[in-house]
Amino acid sequence: MKIGLQGIRYDAHSSHLRGAADAPPLIREALHSASANYWTEHGQDLTGVFEDRGDFAPVSYEEIVPVTAVTPFIYLGGDHSITFPLVRAVSEVHGPVEILHFDAHPDLYDEFEGNRFSHACPFARILESGLASRLVQVGIRTAHGHQREQAKRFGVEVVEMKDFDDDWIPCFKGPLYISFDLDCLDPACAPGVSHWEPGGLTTRQALRVIQSLRGGAQIVAADIVEFNPHVEAKLTAMTAAKILKEIAAAMMTH
Ligand code: MN
Ligand code: MN
Repeated sequence: MKIGLQGIRYDAHSSHLRGAADAPPLIREALHSASANYWTEHGQDLTGVFEDRGDFAPVSYEEIVPVTAVTPFIYLGGDHSITFPLVRAVSEVHGPVEILHFDAHPDLYDEFEGNRFSHACPFARILESGLASRLVQVGIRTAHGHQREQAKRFGVEVVEMKDFDDDWIPCFKGPLYISFDLDCLDPACAPGVSHWEPGGLTTRQALRVIQSLRGGAQIVAADIVEFNPHVEAKLTAMTAAKILKEIAAAMMTH
Protein backbone atom coordinates (compact mmCIF):
# COMPACT_ATOMS: atom_id res chain seq x y z
CA MET A 1 0.00 0.00 0.00
CA LYS A 2 1.17 3.51 -0.88
CA ILE A 3 0.44 6.64 1.14
CA GLY A 4 0.66 10.04 -0.50
CA LEU A 5 2.47 12.86 1.23
CA GLN A 6 2.12 16.54 0.41
CA GLY A 7 3.31 19.66 2.21
CA ILE A 8 1.12 22.79 2.09
CA ARG A 9 3.32 25.77 2.89
CA TYR A 10 0.61 28.24 3.91
CA ASP A 11 0.24 30.26 7.12
CA ALA A 12 -1.42 33.52 6.03
CA HIS A 13 -4.57 32.68 8.02
CA SER A 14 -2.74 32.38 11.34
CA SER A 15 -4.03 34.78 13.99
CA HIS A 16 -1.08 35.18 16.36
CA LEU A 17 2.29 34.11 14.94
CA ARG A 18 3.30 33.20 11.40
CA GLY A 19 5.79 30.39 10.75
CA ALA A 20 3.79 27.21 10.10
CA ALA A 21 4.49 27.56 6.37
CA ASP A 22 8.08 26.54 7.08
CA ALA A 23 7.10 23.28 8.79
CA PRO A 24 6.70 20.69 5.98
CA PRO A 25 10.39 20.33 4.97
CA LEU A 26 11.35 19.95 8.65
CA ILE A 27 8.76 17.23 9.32
CA ARG A 28 10.01 15.40 6.22
CA GLU A 29 13.63 15.78 7.38
CA ALA A 30 12.69 14.34 10.80
CA LEU A 31 10.83 11.46 9.11
CA HIS A 32 13.96 10.53 7.17
CA SER A 33 16.39 11.31 10.00
CA ALA A 34 19.10 8.74 10.64
CA SER A 35 18.36 9.14 14.35
CA ALA A 36 15.22 7.01 13.95
CA ASN A 37 13.98 4.29 11.57
CA TYR A 38 10.93 3.62 9.36
CA TRP A 39 9.33 1.00 11.60
CA THR A 40 6.12 1.67 13.48
CA GLU A 41 5.53 0.62 17.06
CA HIS A 42 3.43 -2.38 15.96
CA GLY A 43 6.15 -3.63 13.62
CA GLN A 44 5.24 -2.28 10.18
CA ASP A 45 8.12 -1.21 7.96
CA LEU A 46 7.23 2.09 6.23
CA THR A 47 10.28 1.98 3.93
CA GLY A 48 9.11 2.93 0.45
CA VAL A 49 5.48 3.43 1.53
CA PHE A 50 5.34 7.20 1.06
CA GLU A 51 4.68 8.62 -2.36
CA ASP A 52 6.00 12.11 -1.74
CA ARG A 53 4.48 14.85 -3.90
CA GLY A 54 6.73 17.49 -2.34
CA ASP A 55 5.69 20.88 -1.03
CA PHE A 56 3.19 23.27 -2.48
CA ALA A 57 3.30 26.98 -1.57
CA PRO A 58 -0.09 28.50 -2.45
CA VAL A 59 0.00 32.24 -3.09
CA SER A 60 -3.61 32.66 -1.94
CA TYR A 61 -6.08 30.61 0.12
CA GLU A 62 -8.15 29.93 -3.02
CA GLU A 63 -5.09 28.24 -4.52
CA ILE A 64 -5.07 25.45 -1.91
CA VAL A 65 -6.15 22.59 -4.15
CA PRO A 66 -4.46 19.49 -2.82
CA VAL A 67 -3.53 16.35 -4.68
CA THR A 68 -6.17 13.70 -3.94
CA ALA A 69 -6.38 10.12 -5.08
CA VAL A 70 -7.89 6.80 -4.09
CA THR A 71 -4.61 6.28 -2.21
CA PRO A 72 -4.74 7.70 1.32
CA PHE A 73 -2.94 11.00 1.75
CA ILE A 74 -1.21 12.74 4.63
CA TYR A 75 -0.91 16.52 4.30
CA LEU A 76 1.63 18.54 6.23
CA GLY A 77 0.70 22.12 7.16
CA GLY A 78 0.66 24.90 7.33
CA ASP A 79 -1.82 26.62 9.63
CA HIS A 80 -5.14 24.93 10.42
CA SER A 81 -7.09 26.95 7.82
CA ILE A 82 -5.85 24.47 5.18
CA THR A 83 -8.11 21.75 6.61
CA PHE A 84 -11.25 23.25 5.02
CA PRO A 85 -9.99 23.00 1.40
CA LEU A 86 -8.36 19.65 2.20
CA VAL A 87 -11.58 18.12 3.56
CA ARG A 88 -13.52 19.65 0.65
CA ALA A 89 -11.20 17.93 -1.85
CA VAL A 90 -11.22 14.62 0.03
CA SER A 91 -15.02 14.62 0.33
CA GLU A 92 -15.29 15.10 -3.44
CA VAL A 93 -13.60 11.70 -3.78
CA HIS A 94 -15.09 9.85 -0.79
CA GLY A 95 -18.30 11.72 0.10
CA PRO A 96 -18.87 13.29 3.53
CA VAL A 97 -16.23 12.09 5.99
CA GLU A 98 -16.13 11.50 9.71
CA ILE A 99 -13.43 13.64 11.31
CA LEU A 100 -11.27 12.98 14.35
CA HIS A 101 -9.81 16.34 15.33
CA PHE A 102 -6.95 16.70 17.83
CA ASP A 103 -6.57 20.28 19.10
CA ALA A 104 -6.35 22.52 22.16
CA HIS A 105 -8.87 24.75 20.34
CA PRO A 106 -12.30 23.96 18.87
CA ASP A 107 -11.60 26.04 15.69
CA LEU A 108 -15.36 26.57 15.35
CA TYR A 109 -15.51 30.38 15.25
CA ASP A 110 -18.03 31.74 12.78
CA GLU A 111 -15.41 34.39 12.04
CA PHE A 112 -12.22 35.45 13.76
CA GLU A 113 -10.86 39.01 13.55
CA GLY A 114 -13.10 39.55 10.53
CA ASN A 115 -11.79 36.47 8.70
CA ARG A 116 -14.21 33.59 8.04
CA PHE A 117 -11.33 31.46 6.75
CA SER A 118 -9.02 32.03 9.75
CA HIS A 119 -7.26 29.04 11.29
CA ALA A 120 -9.77 29.50 14.12
CA CYS A 121 -12.73 28.73 11.78
CA PRO A 122 -12.14 25.66 9.54
CA PHE A 123 -14.54 23.28 11.29
CA ALA A 124 -17.40 25.80 11.15
CA ARG A 125 -16.89 26.03 7.37
CA ILE A 126 -16.63 22.24 6.98
CA LEU A 127 -19.79 21.52 8.98
CA GLU A 128 -21.97 24.23 7.42
CA SER A 129 -20.87 22.99 3.97
CA GLY A 130 -22.00 19.44 4.78
CA LEU A 131 -18.52 17.99 4.14
CA ALA A 132 -18.50 15.95 7.35
CA SER A 133 -21.06 13.51 8.73
CA ARG A 134 -19.50 13.65 12.19
CA LEU A 135 -16.87 15.66 14.07
CA VAL A 136 -15.16 14.29 17.17
CA GLN A 137 -12.75 16.65 18.94
CA VAL A 138 -10.16 15.66 21.56
CA GLY A 139 -7.70 17.67 23.63
CA ILE A 140 -9.93 20.77 23.81
CA ARG A 141 -9.14 23.15 26.66
CA THR A 142 -9.99 26.66 25.45
CA ALA A 143 -13.71 26.51 24.61
CA HIS A 144 -15.61 29.67 25.54
CA GLY A 145 -19.22 30.74 25.10
CA HIS A 146 -19.34 31.23 21.32
CA GLN A 147 -17.39 28.06 20.59
CA ARG A 148 -19.57 26.04 22.97
CA GLU A 149 -22.67 27.37 21.19
CA GLN A 150 -21.17 26.45 17.83
CA ALA A 151 -20.33 22.93 19.04
CA LYS A 152 -23.94 22.50 20.17
CA ARG A 153 -25.33 23.97 16.96
CA PHE A 154 -23.32 21.55 14.81
CA GLY A 155 -23.65 18.51 17.10
CA VAL A 156 -19.90 18.24 17.64
CA GLU A 157 -18.76 15.48 20.01
CA VAL A 158 -16.19 17.16 22.25
CA VAL A 159 -13.82 15.31 24.55
CA GLU A 160 -12.48 18.15 26.64
CA MET A 161 -9.00 17.72 28.06
CA LYS A 162 -10.31 18.08 31.63
CA ASP A 163 -12.48 15.00 31.04
CA PHE A 164 -9.96 12.97 29.02
CA ASP A 165 -9.76 9.33 30.06
CA ASP A 166 -6.69 7.27 29.17
CA ASP A 167 -8.95 4.37 28.19
CA TRP A 168 -11.00 6.41 25.69
CA ILE A 169 -11.27 4.63 22.35
CA PRO A 170 -13.19 6.43 19.58
CA CYS A 171 -15.16 4.30 17.10
CA PHE A 172 -15.86 5.31 13.50
CA LYS A 173 -17.63 3.81 10.49
CA GLY A 174 -15.53 5.72 7.97
CA PRO A 175 -14.43 7.11 5.67
CA LEU A 176 -12.37 8.84 8.36
CA TYR A 177 -10.26 12.01 8.16
CA ILE A 178 -7.77 12.79 10.95
CA SER A 179 -6.83 16.42 11.60
CA PHE A 180 -3.92 16.71 14.01
CA ASP A 181 -3.15 20.19 15.37
CA LEU A 182 0.13 19.80 17.26
CA ASP A 183 -1.06 22.18 19.99
CA CYS A 184 -3.36 19.38 21.21
CA LEU A 185 -0.18 18.15 22.87
CA ASP A 186 1.13 19.65 26.06
CA PRO A 187 3.69 22.36 25.20
CA ALA A 188 6.25 20.27 27.11
CA CYS A 189 5.86 17.58 24.41
CA ALA A 190 5.54 19.88 21.38
CA PRO A 191 6.82 23.39 22.17
CA GLY A 192 7.03 24.45 18.50
CA VAL A 193 3.50 25.79 18.13
CA SER A 194 2.10 29.31 17.86
CA HIS A 195 -0.35 29.04 20.76
CA TRP A 196 1.03 27.43 23.91
CA GLU A 197 -1.87 26.00 25.89
CA PRO A 198 -0.64 24.13 28.97
CA GLY A 199 -2.35 21.02 30.27
CA GLY A 200 -2.55 19.05 27.02
CA LEU A 201 -2.20 15.46 25.87
CA THR A 202 1.12 13.71 26.25
CA THR A 203 2.60 12.34 23.05
CA ARG A 204 1.89 8.84 24.40
CA GLN A 205 -1.80 9.61 25.04
CA ALA A 206 -2.20 10.93 21.48
CA LEU A 207 -0.36 7.92 20.02
CA ARG A 208 -2.61 5.60 22.00
CA VAL A 209 -5.74 7.17 20.48
CA ILE A 210 -4.24 6.92 16.97
CA GLN A 211 -3.17 3.31 17.54
CA SER A 212 -6.67 2.44 18.80
CA LEU A 213 -7.91 3.18 15.23
CA ARG A 214 -5.90 0.27 13.83
CA GLY A 215 -8.13 -2.24 12.05
CA GLY A 216 -11.15 0.08 12.33
CA ALA A 217 -12.70 2.48 9.83
CA GLN A 218 -10.89 3.30 6.61
CA ILE A 219 -8.71 6.38 7.12
CA VAL A 220 -8.76 8.21 3.79
CA ALA A 221 -6.67 11.25 4.66
CA ALA A 222 -5.01 13.15 7.48
CA ASP A 223 -3.33 16.43 8.13
CA ILE A 224 -0.67 17.45 10.65
CA VAL A 225 -0.81 21.21 11.16
CA GLU A 226 0.30 24.21 13.24
CA PHE A 227 3.95 23.21 13.78
CA ASN A 228 5.75 26.55 14.05
CA PRO A 229 9.51 25.96 13.70
CA HIS A 230 10.21 29.64 14.48
CA VAL A 231 9.19 28.86 18.08
CA GLU A 232 10.94 25.46 18.37
CA ALA A 233 12.18 23.30 15.52
CA LYS A 234 13.73 20.04 16.70
CA LEU A 235 11.65 18.19 19.31
CA THR A 236 8.41 19.25 17.64
CA ALA A 237 9.63 18.08 14.20
CA MET A 238 10.46 14.63 15.60
CA THR A 239 7.11 14.54 17.40
CA ALA A 240 5.27 15.43 14.19
CA ALA A 241 7.18 12.72 12.31
CA LYS A 242 6.30 10.17 15.00
CA ILE A 243 2.60 11.08 14.77
CA LEU A 244 2.86 10.86 10.96
CA LYS A 245 4.31 7.33 11.15
CA GLU A 246 1.63 6.05 13.51
CA ILE A 247 -1.19 7.63 11.44
CA ALA A 248 0.33 5.89 8.39
CA ALA A 249 0.38 2.63 10.33
CA ALA A 250 -3.31 3.01 11.23
CA MET A 251 -4.11 3.76 7.55
CA MET A 252 -2.34 0.57 6.49
CA THR A 253 -4.11 -1.76 8.93
CA HIS A 254 -7.60 -1.14 7.50
MN1 MN B 1 -6.36 24.16 15.25
MN1 MN C 1 -4.89 24.69 18.12
